Amino acid sequence: MMGQREDCIFPIEDALEMILVFEQTGKISYANAIARQKLEYKDDLCGKHISDVFPNTFKTCENGFETDYPFGHEPQNLVAYRKNLTCFPVEARIINSNVDAGIYVCMANDILEKEFLSREIEQVKQEAQQAMKVKSEFVANVTHELRTPVNGVLGNIRELLSEKRDDRTERSLHLIERCCDDMNKIINNILDFSKLEAGKFSLEPRKFDFRNMLNYVKENHINKITEKGLGFFMTVSPKIPEYIIGDELRIVQILNNLISNAQKFTSLGKITVEVLRTAQVNDRIELFFIVSDTGIGIEKADRDKLFQSFSQVDASISRKYGGTGLGLNICKQLVELMGGRIEVESEKDRGSTFSFSIWVELCEGEDNTPLQPDEKHEPFITASPATISMDEERQEAENMRKYGTPENLENLKKNLSKLILCVELENWEKAEMFMDTIKQLTEGAPQEVSRLVLRLKMAIQKENYDKVIAGYEALNNYL
Ligand code: ADP
Repeated sequence: MMGQREDCIFPIEDALEMILVFEQTGKISYANAIARQKLEYKDDLCGKHISDVFPNTFKTCENGFETDYPFGHEPQNLVAYRKNLTCFPVEARIINSNVDAGIYVCMANDILEKEFLSREIEQVKQEAQQAMKVKSEFVANVTHELRTPVNGVLGNIRELLSEKRDDRTERSLHLIERCCDDMNKIINNILDFSKLEAGKFSLEPRKFDFRNMLNYVKENHINKITEKGLGFFMTVSPKIPEYIIGDELRIVQILNNLISNAQKFTSLGKITVEVLRTAQVNDRIELFFIVSDTGIGIEKADRDKLFQSFSQVDASISRKYGGTGLGLNICKQLVELMGGRIEVESEKDRGSTFSFSIWVELCEGEDNTPLQPDEKHEPFITASPATISMDEERQEAENMRKYGTPENLENLKKNLSKLILCVELENWEKAEMFMDTIKQLTEGAPQEVSRLVLRLKMAIQKENYDKVIAGYEALNNYL
C-alpha cells in the first residue's frame, strides 16, 4: 500500500496542498511532504489515526471512525491539530475515493496562510499599479515638457522660413521643420498612450460635419498618396447624416493613423476608405470604417501582435519605415472608448484591410428611420478612375512589384524619372520617398542591381547631387 516518502511514487508528494490518505479503519496510510511539515511530524504520521489530525470532526470507534463529515468535493472549514496539539484552521475536501476498498483522500489548505498569501498578492498588485501610475504620470509630464521646446523651435523655424533665404539655408530649415513635426507626432503619441494607460483619457464629443471631417482627412493625405502614384477612393453611405455628435478629433486621429500606414506600406495600387452606417439603437448609430490598401501586407503570425503597444512587425520594418509602434495600440484604445472594435485582415504581399466600428450620437431632429439593408454608397472622393476589380487591381500591383516583370521594369523607370526630377528641383524629401519605392520594387533583384540601388540611396541621403546623377545613370543604364 501507500507508504512514506521513499516508497511514494505519487507526484502529489511535492504538491503545495496537504494530502492525507486514510483507510476505513481511520489509519493514515499516506501523508505528503507538506502535510508532514505542517502537522510537524517526521515519518511517523503514517500509522496515526485521522482523529489525531481532526479530533473535532473524526472520533475513533470500534469499526474505525465516526463522523458527520459530508464527504465530497465541497470545501469545508476544519481545525487541524499538530503533533504538539496546537491547531490551525484549514479548508479541506475529503472524498471517499474508493468505496469498495474504503480509501479516503483528504486535501487541505492552511486558511491563514492562504489569506496571508492573497493579502500579499493584493499588496504586490497594488504596488505594481501604483508604480505603473507613477511611470505613466512621469512619461506624461516629460512629454508635455518636451512639447514646449519643440514648438519653440518650430515657431522660430517657420518665422525664418517666411523670410527670403538662399536655397541651401532654406533646405536646412525645411529639414529642421520636418524633424520637429516628426518629433511632435511622437510626443503626441506617447502623451496619448500614457494618458490612456493611466485611465486619464476622456473623449470630447461635439456636433460636427461628418463629410467635412472626411474631407479634412483626405486633404491630409492626398498629396503624399498621389505623389506615390497611388489611387485614393473614399465612399460614404448616404445614410450617415450631415451632422453627428462624436469626438471628431479622435476619429480623425484614427483615420489619419490607418491611412498613413496604408500610404507608408503601399508602393503600388490604391488605398480605399469606406464608411457605412451599420446599426442604430435609439439616437445612437454605429459607423463602420474600412481602410484597405494593396501594400506589403502582414503575415498571419504578426497580425495578433499588431494592436499591442510598441509592436512593429519586425525590426527590419521599423528600420525601413520608422515609427514607434504605438499608433495601432492608441487606435484600438480610442475605438474601444467609442464602444467599438478594430480588426485587420491581410495577406502577405497582397495588401491589408483595417476596419473599425464606433458609436456616435444623432443630432436632435436628425433622421431616426431604421436602416435599409440594401443601401447604396455614394462615392465621396476619387483620386483615379476605378475601372477594374479589386482582384485585378491586386494582380496588377503584384506584377508591378515583382522584380523582372515588364510591369515592374516600366514602374521602376517611372519612379526613377520622378526621383531625378525631384533631385533637379532639390526636393530631397520627395526624392527619398521615390527612392523607398524603388528599393521595394527591386527586392529580389540580382546583387548588382541591389548595390546600385544602395549607392543611389546613400547619395540621396547625403543630398550629393553629382553622386545621385552618377548613381541614377548607372542604374538606368543597367535597367
Ligand atoms: P507605427 O507608428 O510604428 O507605424 P503602428 O502601430 O501604426 O506603428 O503600426 C505597427 C506596425 O504594424 C507597423 O510597423 C507595420 O509593421 C504594421 N502595419 C500597420 N499598418 C500596416 C499596413 N497597412 N500594411 C502593412 N503593415 C502595417
